Amino acid sequence: MVAVPPEREFQMYEAMAARFDVAAAKLGLDEGLVRVLRHPNKEITLYIPVAMDKGELQIFIGYRVQHSVVRGPGKGGIRYAPDVTLDEVRALASWMTWKCAVVNIPFGGAKGGVICDPAKLSTGELERITRRYTAELLDYLGPERDVPAPDLGTNEQTMAWVMDTYSMHVRHTVTAVVTGKPLDLGGSRGRHEATGRGCMIVCDKALEKFKRKRPETRVIIQGFGNVGSMAAKLMHEAGYKIVGIADVSGGIYHEKGLDVPKLLDLTSHGRFVKDFKEGQPVDRSEILFLDCDVLMPAAVENQITSKNANRVQAKILCEAANGPTTAPADDILERKGVFLIPDILANAGGVTVSYFEWVQDRQGYFWNEQLVNHRLEEIMVHSFDDVVRYAEIHKVTNRIAAYMLAIDRVAFALKLRGIYA
Ligand code: NAD
Repeated sequence: MVAVPPEREFQMYEAMAARFDVAAAKLGLDEGLVRVLRHPNKEITLYIPVAMDKGELQIFIGYRVQHSVVRGPGKGGIRYAPDVTLDEVRALASWMTWKCAVVNIPFGGAKGGVICDPAKLSTGELERITRRYTAELLDYLGPERDVPAPDLGTNEQTMAWVMDTYSMHVRHTVTAVVTGKPLDLGGSRGRHEATGRGCMIVCDKALEKFKRKRPETRVIIQGFGNVGSMAAKLMHEAGYKIVGIADVSGGIYHEKGLDVPKLLDLTSHGRFVKDFKEGQPVDRSEILFLDCDVLMPAAVENQITSKNANRVQAKILCEAANGPTTAPADDILERKGVFLIPDILANAGGVTVSYFEWVQDRQGYFWNEQLVNHRLEEIMVHSFDDVVRYAEIHKVTNRIAAYMLAIDRVAFALKLRGIYA
């Protein structure tokens, strides 16, 4: 049972902490360790001066939170959005710690963000924000310290600017300082598709568990950006029936299955999902409650809440986004018998291939796409099995099992290292 006061249901750090507390109690974790692991290691707030195109100087507020470096360098994206908050970045940084531990890769957790609206900024303004943000964080970033990646509102180009700024300061090219870079600058094959591919792999595992076949499995995906569109493309190609898709503009539903390649072609030309005419228009939030077998929220946080979780019809909920379900909604979904693939497992394919990118950059030896995908599959399959087995043994939900597994791994490493005083 997860306890969150109603007025704090939508606070993201609260969402993390509520699950953390339940998992730590189930593990019987020492009180001191709970205190250490529940709090971030470092929070940095920046006031970034930027010369705008029209000549005036503006200040943008940016954050970098390093939650844990116990198992390795901090790892986590940089988010550019108008509603970024420190609370959100703090939550996302902690989730990165647990996510990296669930898939057992040697990273801690970190996250960054800048309060800005990338849609309203020129390329030059975005570049200047990114370079100054990076320069201010020079002492904290690095392949052995903290390795950013793209998130909402940032992309390969942003990572190229971070890498170049860092490299200029240290006087040599350091490709391993960021992941999610363009291929020609040390990016990894398969990174672009990795999060969506990881989601498909864990859905395949859930289907195997319920002895279902892909063609009889109807999928709804909310979010058609990097993660949602890749999941839709790969799952459509693999034989799943994608019956509903939404983006920020709205959604469409077609019970016989949507023509995903056609929709991808449309959106690649700057159009939105609502412009697709083959299907019935649906509200971007209402799509979550239509009839389907697999529901994949792949957009933003706090979509499935205590107010609407009862309306979810899906049998399997695969959380491609970070924090799409609030903590009080967890109990409702559990009572309904929804099989949950929690975010820190479901969307870990992205950070897993980021790890491969970091390894390849440090070795200066690059893998072919088949090898990347094969190693990704191996890790996602093992991690899914670990979480589901843990849930069965400890009689907890898959979400609490994923937290328990992760916290146990980080706490074990922390105990081995000891607290430096
Ligand atoms: P993105 O910016 O590429 O795409 C976001 C999509 O969501 C867009 O299609 C947008 O139109 C849609 N959207 C925004 N608000 C919406 C709303 N209220 N209702 C419906 N649709 C809405 O972002 P992304 O990289 O695909 O990330 C999506 C989620 O996945 C985020 O929670 C992110 O943190 C998480 N995630 C991303 C990665 C990655 O590799 N990109 C890895 C792990 C987790």
